[in-house]
Formats: sequence, C-alpha cells, structure tokens
Amino acid sequence: MKSFPAFFDLAGKTVVITGAGEVASRKARLAHAAGARIVFAGSALNEDLVEEWRDLAEFDARSPSPEVFADAQFAFVASASDEEAARLSDLARAAGALVNVVDRPALSDFITPSIVDRGDVVVAISTGGAAPVLGRRLREKIEALLPHRLSALSAFARSFRDAVAARLAAEDRRAFWESVFDGPIAARVLAGDETSAREAMIDAINRPHTAPKTGVVHIVGAGPGDPELLTLKALRLLQSADVILYDRLVGDEILALARRDALRLYVGKAKSAHAVPQEEIEKRLIEHARAGKIVVRLKGGDPFIFGRGGEELDAVKEAGIEAYVTPGVTAATGCAASAGLPLTHREISQAVTFVTGHAKDDGEPDLDWAALARLGHTLVVYMGVGKADRIARNLIENGRSGATPVAVIEKGTTADEKVLKGRLADLGFLIRAGGVAGPALLVIGEVAAKANGQALSHLAASERRAA
Ligand code: SAH
Repeated sequence: MKSFPAFFDLAGKTVVITGAGEVASRKARLAHAAGARIVFAGSALNEDLVEEWRDLAEFDARSPSPEVFADAQFAFVASASDEEAARLSDLARAAGALVNVVDRPALSDFITPSIVDRGDVVVAISTGGAAPVLGRRLREKIEALLPHRLSALSAFARSFRDAVAARLAAEDRRAFWESVFDGPIAARVLAGDETSAREAMIDAINRPHTAPKTGVVHIVGAGPGDPELLTLKALRLLQSADVILYDRLVGDEILALARRDALRLYVGKAKSAHAVPQEEIEKRLIEHARAGKIVVRLKGGDPFIFGRGGEELDAVKEAGIEAYVTPGVTAATGCAASAGLPLTHREISQAVTFVTGHAKDDGEPDLDWAALARLGHTLVVYMGVGKADRIARNLIENGRSGATPVAVIEKGTTADEKVLKGRLADLGFLIRAGGVAGPALLVIGEVAAKANGQALSHLAASERRAA
C-alpha cells in the first residue's frame, strides 16, 4: 500500500486553491461537496471559473503570500511550473496546510483518489499516483455496482441506529442489520418507497425475533442479448441475487455477471422439450422468496413486452411477497438499433406497433389484421417466424402492398446477428431461404428498407427456387 487512505471532515474548513482553470474547478467541486470553505487565490482567474464559483467560493486576488494561506487546512496547487509549485507548497505548508500539487504526487502531501460519492457512503480508489486512468476505470465499475439510492439507504440506517441499539443486544445487532440490508426493507428504500420501509423497520425493531425472514422477487429484463444492453439496475440485482430463474433468451455472458454462488435455475424451453410450465415457474419464485432469498426472475428483453412478466408479478404479489420490476431493452428497440433501422422516421413512419405472432396454446393471436394493414406505419412482429406466410397474407389481403419493405432480424445484438431484407410478399420465402432458425423479429414498413442487411436479391437464385 503506497498511500494510506483516510477520510477528513472538511465541513467549515478552509481549502485554498491556486490556479485558474478547469483543474482548479474540479478540485473545488470535491471540496465543496464535502462542505469546505473554498478560497481561490491568485489574479489570473478564467471567466468560466468565476462564473461557476461566484456565489460558492471566495476570491483572493493577491498573489499568493503567507497571509493567503493563513487559514488553510488544505491547499491545492493547480497549473504551475515545478518551481512555482514548490514555492506555493512551501508557503501553504508553512501555514500548516496539507498540500496537493495536481498531477505531481511527488510534490504532494496527499493525493485525491477517484471517488464514488453516495452521501455518507464514499468509495475512494487510489493507484498511488501510478495510473490515474486505471483508477477512473475502476471507479466506473464501482459506480455501476452501487445503487444510486445508497445514500438514502445509509441515511435511513443512520436514523434507526439508536433505536436498534436501544432495543437489541449487541450480539444480535449484526444479524439484524444484515437482514435489513439483504431483505425487503432495503429493497423498499432503494425503490424509493421510504414510507413503507419505515413502517416495516419499526415493526422489525419491535419484534426482532418473531419477524420471519422474507425474501423478495425482482422481475428483471435482461435485454435482447448483448450484455452491454443490461441496465445498471439489472446488473446490480443480478449481482445481489441468491437465486436466478432464467429463460432461453438469456445468454451465458449475462449469467456470468451473477454472483458465483448464486443458484441458477433454467426454466426455459430446451430444444424439442417442453418449457417448465408457467405455474411451476411461479411456484418456484414464491418458494424461494418464502425461504428468505433474493430471487431474480431474469427474462429476455423487457419483462412486460410479450414476456409474461405481468402474470408472474400477479402470482408473486398474490402470495404476499414483495415484488419489483426492472425494465429491459426490448428486442424491437435493440434489434432496430443494431440493424440501423429507425422504428419511426419523421418522413416515412409516424408510429410503431408491436404485435405477437403467437398466442396461448399455439393458437392464432387475436389481431385485427384489417386495422393493422390500414395503419400503414411500422409493424414489429415478435414470435412471428413460424407464422410469417400467414401474417404476410393477412396484411396483403387487407390492403397493405406486397411491395412494402420488410426486414427479418435474427439473434439481434448478438455476435450471430443476421439481418435479411425483402418485400412483404416474399416474407416467408425470405425466412426459409435465409435459414432463419433462432429468435427473430419481423419489421414490416417503409423503414425496413433502411436496415443494414442482406437484400433478397443477393440470395442465390437456387435458394429462391428451393424456397
Ligand atoms: N420480452 C421479450 C420478448 C419475448 S418473446 C422482449 O421484450 O424482447 C420472444 C420473441 O422476442 C422472439 O420470438 C423474437 O421474436 C423476439 N426476440 C427476442 N430476442 C431477440 C433477438 N435477440 N433478436 C431477434 N428477436 C428477438
């Protein structure tokens, strides 16, 4: 360990900053966030800096002298030559301040780490001045892991500290707090529902030994395939989960982001086998939550778009278990972005409709084809591959032109993505000739012509005949 980490209380303390530019401003922002009194010393201040700090800092236009540093507990020396920096540091040290010369660890008493700021909770990362960019990279990773409302959670915990201490014996407190942070109370605070979290907390404090340990279910969208399309929240929940129930559409790369000791249960359809029945999935969600686990139900795309997330939410809530939903990038928006196909376009399509080609028990979806054909805007069909011929026929018979552009996007946003383009009249052929086998989306409408993909005319004539 090259640098020893320590946290200083800067509230009301004086921090003197010499230097006039963005670097000086950056240090001032840190000190200001910690409640320090800030003094910019020197006359060559730039306009942006003065504008930003006019009401938040003081300005001392004298050229830095011992008096300028008289009250300083900390000093930042920014944008000076080595010689000037040494002179200013000596002045500051003589006045009793600790000095940081920006980007010159060798001349500094302390260095400023990369910081993740969540109110009371602060994470500081130092590379001992060796590789600040690496430090910043690590910071981004930690930022992504820590919930945004962590500051609310720590403030919440602080407000109950005395009450818990008064009520529970010292040896029971740790387990009690763990159950708070791992359970529904913290989940409520992090979801922004502080009122009910407070009620639950008061209950738990009053009956610390009788309260059964209950878990929570998070229904989480995993996006269309590319792990980078996970939301920060989905990533965090994945890493907090004790149990993960996942579908066929969720790839290994995404599961690899879960905690190593999490129980992973596959509940999707295996090739040629049947999926775990929906009631069984719901039963398992409830059982694991009742056993006090943090359960993540991980679903492809967005849980509320053709994902049966609504049914699962109802079932879990009916069982009296706390449940939350985290959205995901749905296949339509993910695939469209990946294929460079705008779902709406000011000139050619003013709306977009998502439909499913599939219905309960393999039946026909209850769709008004005449209405859909009449709309004339972008139509995105999920689960439509097997019924593509019928879908095209229904639309054409109801008046949509057979020449309407279509795009078929298979395994969109993954390394195996395939994009095929053609005309509505050839939709079924396009799928067969293109050998589409994986999950695929059909996009029907003028915008489909804009997709970066393989046009039908590029397929060999023999494939056309074979299809
Ligand atoms: N809840 C999911 C959809 C589940 S239905 C979502 O919001 O995306 C399953 C259908 O979604 C598939 O049949 C296919 O039509 C579509 N789909 C899901 N992932 C896809 C992908 N990566 N590429 C193309 N289509 C996809």
